[in-house]
Amino acid sequence: MGSVGIDLSLKESATTSNGDKLIIKQTQKWANKLAVAQRAKNKKRVKAIHAKIKNTRLDLIHKFTTKLVKDNSLIVVGDVKSRSFTTKKTKLAKSTYDAGWFELKRQLEYKCKHAGCQLEIVNESYTTQTCSYCLKISDSSPKGRAGLGIRGWTCAECGIWHDRDINAAKNILAVGLDRLAVGIPSV
Ligand SMILES: [Zn+2]
Repeated sequence: MGSVGIDLSLKESATTSNGDKLIIKQTQKWANKLAVAQRAKNKKRVKAIHAKIKNTRLDLIHKFTTKLVKDNSLIVVGDVKSRSFTTKKTKLAKSTYDAGWFELKRQLEYKCKHAGCQLEIVNESYTTQTCSYCLKISDSSPKGRAGLGIRGWTCAECGIWHDRDINAAKNILAVGLDRLAVGIPSV
């Protein structure tokens, strides 16, 4: 049984420290169908499509969480409450973000409980900026709002290339493992 860290991104996706990704963003197929039904003012069809989108998302989250709980005895997730949403755009994103991640955490909580898997929620501060290999915060790491668009970067300190989200997930896992090692009780 393994241990895994999960980074929740603003773009309706989650990335694990093993490199697995969950994307629950609405697909173009459904967006197109929805637009057609809305133009036709077909309320029944619009409602049905919304339900279908919701079910598809739920199904994706279920598959993702089931696999995580099956493969791991420890799951560490960053506490997104510590994140700030300052710009208009990020505030807007926050509502979809909250809905999706609330469901993801809800599923992890009950599935972990059932399977005897340990779930840790940790402070995710600096998990994006820190290099998971050399543990330094180099000049080249993604920081602040400017760093939001960076998908990959090379650590200026040790020269390792990182996928931004996988690196963050690795750091989140490390925070969880550290906390367990020193015996700080979970919140
Ligand atoms: Zn480094």
